[in-house]
Amino acid sequence: MNPFSFRNPTAIFFGDGSLSKLSEQIGQYGKSVLLVYGGGSIKKSGLYDRVLEQLNAAGASVVELSGIEPNPRLTTVNKGIELCRTHGVEFILAVGGGSVIDASKAIAAGAKYEGDVWDFLDRKAAVQDALPLGTVLTLAATGSEMNGSSVITNWETQLKRGFGSPHVYPRFSILDPTLTYTVPRDQTVNGVVDIMSHVFEQYFSLTTDTPLQERLCESILQTVIENAEIALEQPENYAARANIMWCGTLALNGGLISLGMTNDWASHGIEHEISAIYDIPHGAGLSIVFPNWMKYVYDARPDRFAQYAVRVWGIDPAGKSEDELALAGIEATRAFFTKIGAPATLSHYNIGRDNLDRMAEEAVRFGPIGSFKQLNKEDVKAIYELSL
Ligand code: NAP
Ligand code: FE
Repeated sequence: MNPFSFRNPTAIFFGDGSLSKLSEQIGQYGKSVLLVYGGGSIKKSGLYDRVLEQLNAAGASVVELSGIEPNPRLTTVNKGIELCRTHGVEFILAVGGGSVIDASKAIAAGAKYEGDVWDFLDRKAAVQDALPLGTVLTLAATGSEMNGSSVITNWETQLKRGFGSPHVYPRFSILDPTLTYTVPRDQTVNGVVDIMSHVFEQYFSLTTDTPLQERLCESILQTVIENAEIALEQPENYAARANIMWCGTLALNGGLISLGMTNDWASHGIEHEISAIYDIPHGAGLSIVFPNWMKYVYDARPDRFAQYAVRVWGIDPAGKSEDELALAGIEATRAFFTKIGAPATLSHYNIGRDNLDRMAEEAVRFGPIGSFKQLNKEDVKAIYELSL
């Protein structure tokens, strides 16, 4: 186990009815609020009205930024920064999924920075300060509600990049599983794949002597697997939605489950280049890429993959070699993704070879990626080829 330090400042209010905490929480941070949301799901579900009631109760004056795109765009972030400056915004409230929260984080950091907010994404500057923000989560997937990461797409240059900073952790997040009842089937599936992928990025590690961390990862995977099909069959099953939601938050809240372990994150980098150009959902891209990354790298440490197969998928180890077990675990992963309706190939989105070279080059823009097995441009391209 490697040395580590850990701090997560986000207050969590979890459960049916937790939205009632909103006015009291907002009241701590200022009166002028930027309300950020997506393409309208919160209006359709009635959540918008309930949030406004809470904001009124807090005596807040509200400016709105709606229309945050899935795979949020730099141009929209810049609109938000402008609104913050014009209206003297003191607090940002993100109501939505990861895209709304990520955009809000970039707005929060950009509003306190004189240069171009893209500098943070392009690693030309580090965030020194940010407006405070809070979230009302409506989709279980990214963990953005309890971490300091944000992923933004520059549509003009077709680059999708992330930044992370302690300054953009939400001050609080309201996690009411009933708010995810209206999440459509495909987005529920994308969320499940994203949550599992966040665990994979941490679990498949070369670090040794981390039995607790490995079991934390395995238990999140098992809990998501057990609840995914229930939530898909019964979208208003509280227990299934609640368990998936809490798994999503724990899977990526500043690395709690993998403290002391080296993380990988190559598959996220490989996926980001796909959604940057083709604008496909992040979870769908991960479903295509991850099992192929697994096949490509598992021989760096077949014992971890064998453990995954036995503990997470219950594969009987009797008479099987480590390699056979590893491959059976990878097959079980693909079979599960397929069973819940997640895509397996780039051709599902009519994506061919056209941009593979460029995508591979961009994925390693800042050097080789991954730590389980370091990948250079040729490796990344090979994983894209396996994904066609
Ligand atoms: P999302 O892009 O925020 O939302 C996807 C879709 O789901 C939107 O069309 C949204 O509609 C809809 N939706 C959300 N909540 C809903 C509800 N309760 N009922 C009905 N529809 C609902 O999805 P996401 O997977 O949470 O976020 C994806 C983004 O996060 C990607 O850009 C990805 O790269 C990034 N990401 C970030 C992190 C991180 O740590 N920060 C980690 C992984 C991925 P509306 O727009 O109408 O609301
Ligand atoms: Fe992700």
